[in-house]
Amino acid sequence: MVVQKVMVIGAGQMGSGIAQVFAAAGFHVVLHDLKEEYVDRGIMTITKNLKRQVDKGKLTEQAVTSILSQITPSTNLTSASDVDLVVEAAVENLDIKAKLFANLDKIAPEHAILATNTSSLPITEIAAATKRPQQVIGMHFMNPVPVMRLVEIIRGLATTDEVYETIEYITKQLQKVPVEVNDFPGFVSNRILMPMINEAIYTLYEGVATKEAIDDVMKLGMNHPMGPLTLADFIGLDTCLYIMETLHEGFGDDKYRPCPLLRKYVKAGWLGRKSGRGFYVYEEGRT
Ligand code: NAD
Repeated sequence: MVVQKVMVIGAGQMGSGIAQVFAAAGFHVVLHDLKEEYVDRGIMTITKNLKRQVDKGKLTEQAVTSILSQITPSTNLTSASDVDLVVEAAVENLDIKAKLFANLDKIAPEHAILATNTSSLPITEIAAATKRPQQVIGMHFMNPVPVMRLVEIIRGLATTDEVYETIEYITKQLQKVPVEVNDFPGFVSNRILMPMINEAIYTLYEGVATKEAIDDVMKLGMNHPMGPLTLADFIGLDTCLYIMETLHEGFGDDKYRPCPLLRKYVKAGWLGRKSGRGFYVYEEGRT
C-alpha cells in the first residue's frame, strides 16, 4: 500500500516531532490538535528544531521552507477524510484514544491505516473501538522523535501482515529502526523503563537521597545519559503516571504501584519540562 498523506493527531511533544520526521521524509502531513494555538505551538517547535539544524550546517534554509510547506494545520477531525495513514499522539488516556479512533474510523478512507503512538495502552482495545481492527497498529516513537532511532511496532490481535509490513517500511523511510514487540502493557520500552523511573521517585519520596544525587548515581554509576528524574521531567509526569497506572492495572501486580509523590506532582500541575516545573524547575526549556 502506498502512503502519501499522513495525519498526526496531537501537536504536543511527540506529535510535533512525528509531523516533523514525516514531512522531512517527503510525506504530506496534516497536524491536528484541539485548538489552533496548540497546532501553532507544535509548528513553532518544528520550526525551532529545523532552524537549529540550519545553524549546525545540517540543513539549508530552502529545505526548512520546503519541509514546513509539507505541513497543513487542522483543528477539525474531518481533515482525516483523504489521508492514507493516521498517527495518533494525543494524551495517554484510553477513553480519549478510543473515542478518537471511533471517530476517525467514520471519517478516514476505507484503506487508511490508523496507528497510535501510545506508550503503554492495549492496541487491541483501541482497535476494538473501530470497525477496521485489522488496520489498527501501534507505532511507538521515542522522545525526542527527530533524534531517537527506535520505533516499537505493536500489532493488535487482528492487525494484518500487510498493515504491519507497510508500517515497517514507512518506519525505514523515516530513517528509523522498527522493532516488533507484542501487545502487552508498556510493550518492552516502558515495561522496563517506567518501573525504574517510579523506583527513582520512591527513592526520593523515602528520603534516601536528593534528586540531584539520585540522578548522579544513575548517570555516573550506570552510564545513563540522563538521570531518571530528569528523564521523567522530559517525558512528562502525567504521561509517566498514566503508564504506571496502565502497568498496575494491566498486570494486577502491586510492584507497579505509582509512587504517591508522582501522583501529587501531577495533581499540582507539575508535569515536568512542558509545564516549567517537575522534579526540577525550568525556565524557557532549561533548568
Ligand atoms: P503532550 O501533552 O505534549 O501532547 C498531547 C497533545 O494532544 C496536546 O497538544 C493536546 O492538546 C492534544 N490532545 C489531547 N486530546 C486530544 C484530542 N482528543 N484530539 C486531538 N488532540 C488532543 O503529550 P506527549 O508527550 O506528546 O504524548 C502524546 C502521546 O505520545 C501519549 O500517548 C504518550 O504516551 C505518547 N508518548 C510519549 C512519549 C514521551 O516521552 N512524552 C514517548 C512516546 C510516546
